[in-house]
Amino acid sequence: MVTASAASTDTTTKPAGERKIVVAKELGYCWGVRRALDIIEDAASPESRVAPIGDIIHNPQVVERLRNRGVEGAQSVDEAKDRGFVRVAITAHGMGPHLAEQANANHMELIDTTCPLVIKVQRLAQKLVRQGYFIVMYGDSYHPEVKGVLAWANTTKSCAAKHIEDLPWNAPRGSHWEGAIVPPRKVALVSQTTKNIAELMEFSNELQRMVMPEGGEFRLCNTICEPTTERQNALKELTSSAHVILAIGGKKSSNTARLADVGNQMGVPSYHIERPEDIHMEWLTAVGDGNVGITAGASTPDDVIQQVVDYLVARGYSAPEGGIRPVDPEYVPSF
Ligand code: SF4
Repeated sequence: MVTASAASTDTTTKPAGERKIVVAKELGYCWGVRRALDIIEDAASPESRVAPIGDIIHNPQVVERLRNRGVEGAQSVDEAKDRGFVRVAITAHGMGPHLAEQANANHMELIDTTCPLVIKVQRLAQKLVRQGYFIVMYGDSYHPEVKGVLAWANTTKSCAAKHIEDLPWNAPRGSHWEGAIVPPRKVALVSQTTKNIAELMEFSNELQRMVMPEGGEFRLCNTICEPTTERQNALKELTSSAHVILAIGGKKSSNTARLADVGNQMGVPSYHIERPEDIHMEWLTAVGDGNVGITAGASTPDDVIQQVVDYLVARGYSAPEGGIRPVDPEYVPSF
């Protein structure tokens, strides 16, 4: 589905003929999405249905499984009401305060599964507003998490941006040329929790150069969450032990495509697949007895990952030691 670079790969020391599956330490659902799905699935039943508002998860298999359990997404509280729901839910990415108000006004029960790490960013944005900062949120302006954080900030002195050109200014403070629009004196930068730290820092450096002249004050708040950082590190580790990488996720999953891109950039041929049938055996034979690395996008359920592992095991690969995900029920990411 996705092209791979024709990078050469090193051989690792192992018995001749042994073909291993190596699994990224962090893959598939993040802690916050897993937590949110557990809460919603526990609360719902076919007799007492729940409508999460917005896109709960993109994976078609999960959408079907949830529907059988009484969980069906709706685009708005009004739509949920029209479809006979009396219970609505906020997904892990969070939403603005308007959702609770709408649910309340319609006498609907609200189940809030916003990830605590997203709530932290919402509260931080409110605090920065009280301290007089203009807030720039590094992220995708259409993403529910970004919209939600800016809605909680509740100010016109905020914007979402992914490139410097997205900002409402075009010149550093102190510029006096005609048409120059300069930043205010105090600017704070927060990030969507799933962004890449290197790209955030690049953006931050550019923004800082615009804000700091003439007594400007710039504040960077690194709000990329710990599970995201661990996922990015896990992929780097995987590229050191795998000769070819399969990134598992729905066809439309951009974060899965990104995992395959990063694998390719790091010199390991990497392919975006949705299910075992998408695997081309020549991808694997091209690396001989090389290890197959497995990673998965943030909305890929464990059973789909397991199907890919089973498919490879049936073709002579040894199963990953410890399964696809060592479970630590006590794990809570640092806030
Ligand atoms: S903040 Fe991190 S852990 Fe929480 S939902 Fe977002 S990506 Fe997942």
